Amino acid sequence: MANLVSHPDVVPLLSMRFGKGASALDRYLELEGYQSARKALEMGPEWIISEMKASGLRGRGGAGFPTGMKWSFVPKQSEKPKYVLVNGDESEPGTCKDRLIFEHDPHSVIEGTIIAGLAISAKMGFIYLRGEYRYLLKIIERAIEDAYAKGFLGKNIFGSGRDFDIVSHTGAGAYEVGEESALMESLEGKRGIPRIRPPFPAVVGLYGGPTVINNAETIATVPHVLRIGSAEYAKLGSERNGGTRLFCLSGHVQRPGVYELPMGYNLKKMIYEVAGGIPGGKQLKAVVPGGSSTPVLLPSEIDIGMDFDQVAKAGSMLGSGGVVVLDESVCMVEFALRTIKFYQHESCGWCIPCREGTDWLKKTLTRFHSGGGVNKDIDNIKYLAENMLGKTFCPLGDAAAMPTIAFIKKFRKEFEDHLDGKPCPYAHTAESVLV
Ligand code: SF4
Repeated sequence: MANLVSHPDVVPLLSMRFGKGASALDRYLELEGYQSARKALEMGPEWIISEMKASGLRGRGGAGFPTGMKWSFVPKQSEKPKYVLVNGDESEPGTCKDRLIFEHDPHSVIEGTIIAGLAISAKMGFIYLRGEYRYLLKIIERAIEDAYAKGFLGKNIFGSGRDFDIVSHTGAGAYEVGEESALMESLEGKRGIPRIRPPFPAVVGLYGGPTVINNAETIATVPHVLRIGSAEYAKLGSERNGGTRLFCLSGHVQRPGVYELPMGYNLKKMIYEVAGGIPGGKQLKAVVPGGSSTPVLLPSEIDIGMDFDQVAKAGSMLGSGGVVVLDESVCMVEFALRTIKFYQHESCGWCIPCREGTDWLKKTLTRFHSGGGVNKDIDNIKYLAENMLGKTFCPLGDAAAMPTIAFIKKFRKEFEDHLDGKPCPYAHTAESVLV
């Protein structure tokens, strides 16, 4: 599934170098590489931040926070060193875009990190890679070495008199460290659990210094924003949602894969035209629009633009851009169980509502799906999930609770169909669609 797929509506901006050998520095340079870093050096921090603000680029990790605004929160003066931290801990089920960037265009991440460093006057950046992506580390490390050899990293970068270093690091396979404060803990060599905030990383972050943390896709987009200009970039997307993003389409579609499409692209069109519709003439049952933590949408709710605001208006979230499509054969109780099993396994256990809540949800859904459920379980599952919402140290608790509530609200009948010891009346395909 983790392949870039073409279609006439695809806008190859971020993916323009995919499949073109651009992990080699010479090739990257031939394809307009490092020109944006040179421009950023020439123009200075205020110009960079104003360009990022004007571009409408919003964080691609899931929260959708405006990138330029995030960078502007970093204090200009700091006694402690400042840092840029690239979050490549891509772990949300249904999402497989950052790995393509690291594989095909690692220099875009390096160049974006340099530009972010210039914007906040940092001298050091870290690229944190998901533990399961260790096989990509060689590609990234080679790209970093080549950038050092060419004078793009290290002392006096691009002959500018400024210094900037990058260090790569891999995790050990924990979803939780995708949360930014847990990411910093992990990078500092500690157990990857979240920090209590405030203070926020822009003020007190990595090693106590002001830190900008951005998702790998966001950082890789930065050079493109400066390359084509913020106005052109903003125009590609929708209102307050500039540019394009890598959407990962998986599950029951004819052509699963990663598609670069404009922000605001219609979800229904994405499924039925771009990805070729549902295989085998089956009916659509549900769509998870932005990775497994986002509330499910019904077929009647998918005629919407895929940007942060429009998906929120429809009652869900754009999240990480992982669109999971489910046909009529999927048992939604099993799918809910599959989802909660993941979050229960990944809960770091620090706070009780998440640690106990995900465990109880898993136990109840397991019993329920195997025919041992009673009617009051349905409301109990919903009640339990509702009582986790907003009561945990980090968003993992919400990530488990939000989809569960939506499954009950929208597919209550399927839960009722499992009552009275009845065997599951649906095909067991949930395991195959949520990977
Ligand atoms: Fe850990 Fe879950 Fe609490 Fe996050 S919400 S801190 S993952 S127990």
